Amino acid sequence: MFAECPECAAEIPLAVDAIVHEIVVCPDCGTELEIINLDPPAVDYAPREEEDWGE
Ligand SMILES: [Zn+2]
Repeated sequence: MFAECPECAAEIPLAVDAIVHEIVVCPDCGTELEIINLDPPAVDYAPREEEDWGE
């Protein structure tokens, strides 16, 4: 199944066992996207959580 990238409208292949809230990366533009729905497949921009690598 495929979802459409909101950034570049490319078709993003989703794994058959994909789950909602899973993060996928658009193979075309590299945008990080979150699966928001599976039926029909849909993705939206992944939430930019604060990257808290340091500390
Ligand atoms: Zn894209």
